Formats: sequence, structure tokens, C-alpha cells
Amino acid sequence: MLVMKFGGTSVESAAAIDRAAKIVQSRLPQQPVVVVSAMAKITDQLLAMGQHAGSGQRDRALELSRTVRERHYNTAGELLGTGIFTQFHAELEAEFDALDELLRGIAAVGELTPRTTDNVLSFGERLSSKIVTQAFSARGIDAYLVDARECIITDATHTRAVPMFDITNPRLQAKMKPLLTKNLVPVMGGFIGSTRDGITTTVGRGGSDFSAAIVGAALDAERIEIWTDVDGMMTTDPGLCSDARRIKVISFEEAAELAYFGAKVLHPATLLPAIQKNIPVYVLNSRNPKCEGTRIIAHAPSCRNAFKAIAAKKRITIVDVVAARMLGAHGFLKAIFDAFDRHRCAVDVVSTSEVSVSLTVDSNEAIPNLAADLAKIADVKYEGRKAIVCLVGENIRGTSGIAARVFTALGDINVRMISQGASEINLTFVINEDDVPEAVRRLHSAFFSDLDPEVFS
Ligand code: ADP
Ligand code: ASP
Ligand code: MG
Repeated sequence: MLVMKFGGTSVESAAAIDRAAKIVQSRLPQQPVVVVSAMAKITDQLLAMGQHAGSGQRDRALELSRTVRERHYNTAGELLGTGIFTQFHAELEAEFDALDELLRGIAAVGELTPRTTDNVLSFGERLSSKIVTQAFSARGIDAYLVDARECIITDATHTRAVPMFDITNPRLQAKMKPLLTKNLVPVMGGFIGSTRDGITTTVGRGGSDFSAAIVGAALDAERIEIWTDVDGMMTTDPGLCSDARRIKVISFEEAAELAYFGAKVLHPATLLPAIQKNIPVYVLNSRNPKCEGTRIIAHAPSCRNAFKAIAAKKRITIVDVVAARMLGAHGFLKAIFDAFDRHRCAVDVVSTSEVSVSLTVDSNEAIPNLAADLAKIADVKYEGRKAIVCLVGENIRGTSGIAARVFTALGDINVRMISQGASEINLTFVINEDDVPEAVRRLHSAFFSDLDPEVFS
């Protein structure tokens, strides 16, 4: 069997869902399980509704809900024709009534908690999976709707819940295998799950890719296909650099590093389940299904270029910690990392000198409390609006003079921190957020003009 995940843009409209149906039809003999995202932009709009309701703007929340309702009704109507849509309408209506009820409740309480946020956000995938199932059925695919919340069981860390594989895997197998035996095509919303007690959770923004990989690993899929709006993983974000080229094949390790450092095309956690079961992952374009996309596998073929791609992650803050009273004392780093741990702040890049440590974090919420905590042992400064730029490629190992070439290409762009990851397949540095487009363009033209045709298209 195989898993086919369709992202927001791949189910954004009746035309997109129609294309997705054709793509699934072409794979029926391989027994697909389909995972879908919410329609494009819907998760953002649901979040906005929740925030409006939480801040007392009930009518604004309900107004936005009405436009979202209309978009779903119109899409379903266009896909199904009046006959089937009339029967199905009540089902969608019940979902939207429940959403509005929830928004009224949030407005009454005047607070949007992480738990309620997950409940609000879950409507995107609940709705899209229902519409896609109906549309597939109307096009002759024996589609069967699976509620992700019965299968993907997570902890209760709302808005970034962690799947519990020991429960999730058997649930997925028990649910999906009988359906596949009957040649049905399961359709499940990505991104959402539930706690053991049945409380709705989400696995983090962009998490439908991760859901697809979880399903693929649980069912020992032959492959996991991530259908999106670009031809595959590219040498850099095509939105940043129009010269970006498609990477034909890349290793798990390289792709994971790119996803982690900002290549939004894959959610950073996606590859972990695939790596564990050694399942190839393909990134494909639902608007251009003939294109071969990108194949992500355990060992990529050798490549004559130093790098496979450039990723950039914005909204980074640098925290500078300067030893005050503890100068020279051992245990300083431990004390710093303990503080980051207490405030659940993940650190991406670290550089140290004898008396100071600089660290980058990607979430600003915890910083004021963290800084207050660290102030007990050191002087702390922090500076936002930074970005991590990361060049990835297995050939960095053993290519000499590579750093010099990178920093020459960057020219006068000010670099704040530099790190060559312990994995030895990335070269990472921190710059001002505003410099990202120029930095990426300069690096792209320096390193991606003469490409190995075996690896790049
Ligand atoms: P989906 O809704 O299908 O999950 P996303 O918007 O999450 O799609 O991811 C696809 C987008 O990722 C692309 O449109 C592109 O702008 C962005 N992107 C960033 N870096 C890369 C990259 N290296 N290769 C391809 N796309 C990238
Ligand atoms: N709909 C969710 C989001 O927008 C999950 C996803 O699309 O992968 O974050
Ligand atoms: Mg995505």
C-alpha cells in the first residue's frame, strides 16, 4: 500500500480536489490511504476566529466563520452537483453549527486556551476530509472516511502534541487494514489527533505531512507521497529565488535537515517515522503530476555539487548570555541549558567563547521569563528579527575551503553566528531577517549554477 498526502493547496478548491481524485485513481491498484490537509488558508482563518472570540470580538469571529462556511458549501456543491450535495449538506451544516457554538462559548469565557485552540483548528481537516471523501465517491473511488482522532493518539501538549506510537500504530492497523482488504480507500484528515481520553489535539502547524508519515510507518507502506504545489524539494524556496531547481533525489538526513531549518515543503518531523521503517518519501506536484518530483531515500547517489539546497528559518531570536559572577567556573553551560530546559525553549544554534554563550531560539514567548531566570547567573541580552540560513549537503564532509567560498559569496552581509553542525552535512549561520532574500540569492548563484544532472533537474 502507499500513503498519499494532499496539502492545503492540493484541496483548495473543487478543481484541486478533482485533480487529487484523478491522481488517486491512477494509484488505485497500489492501495492508497489518503491523508488530507484543511483547504488552503482555512487553518489560519480558524485560528483568527478563535482569537477574535477569545478577545471578545464574537461577531467578527462568527462573520469569518460564515465566509469559511460558504467556501466549503460552494466547493462541495461544485464537486457533487445539487443531488448529492443536498444529502450531504446537513452533515457539513452540523459541523459548522458546532464550530459556531464553540466560538460563542470561547467568547463567553473570554479566553482561548491551547486546548480550545486545537478544537477550533481541527475543523479544517474534519471538513476537508468529509468533502474529499464525498467527492472521491462521486468520482467512482470507494472512499471511506476515517476520523483521525480515533487513530492518532497523542499526549496532551496542545497545539504541538506528540504522538504515542505504542497506541497509535495498533489503532491505525486495526482501522485501516480491514478497509484496505475490502479495497476501500481510507481518507483521513492530517494534523489532528486526540488524547487517550478523546480530547482533540493537533500535532503542530504543517503537521499533515507528519500524520501521513505516521500512517505510512504504521502500515509499512511502500512509499509515502506528499502532494503539494511545487515540483518537489527545490534547491531553495522557489518563493525566495525564482532560479530554484528541483532536486531529483536526496537522502533522509539531508531532507530532514532542510525541513528542520525552514524548508516548509516538509514538516520537520515527517521523516522520522519514514527513516525508522526505511520508507521512501516522494514530494510531488498535484498541479503537475507527470513531474517525477523528489525522491527521499536512505542513501542518495553521489553528487558532484557541495550542497543540495539552502533553507532559511526566520523569526529567530539570539540570546547572548555573558558570565558575570561565575566566570571560569565549571557548570556554567549546564546552568544555561537547564534554564532553557525549564522554560521548554528549544535551541538551534549555539556558539561559545570563554565568558559568553550565544544561542538561538525560535519562539519568543518564553524569552522574558527565561531571561529573568538566567539573570541570576549571568547578564542576558536578546535580539529578535534574526534568521538562520542553512546550506545542506553530504559533500560538505571532506570538501575543503567550503566555508571560505560561502562567506565570500555572502560579501558584505553581516553574519552574527556560524556553526557547522555535528552531522557535518550542514553549514549554518545567523543573519538579520531582512538580509535573507539577498543572502539566499547570492548563495544560490554561487553554488547552484552548474548542477549535477544526476541529482538536479
Ligand atoms: P502544503 O500545503 O502542500 O503542505 P506548504 O505550503 O506547506 O504546502 O509547502 C509548500 C511550499 O513550501 C512551497 O510552495 C514553497 O513555497 C515552500 N518551500 C520552502 N522551501 C522549499 C524548498 N526547498 N523546496 C520546495 N518548496 C519549498
Ligand atoms: N492545516 C494545517 C496547517 O495549516 C496542517 C497542514 O496543512 O499540514 O498548519
Ligand atoms: Mg505543508
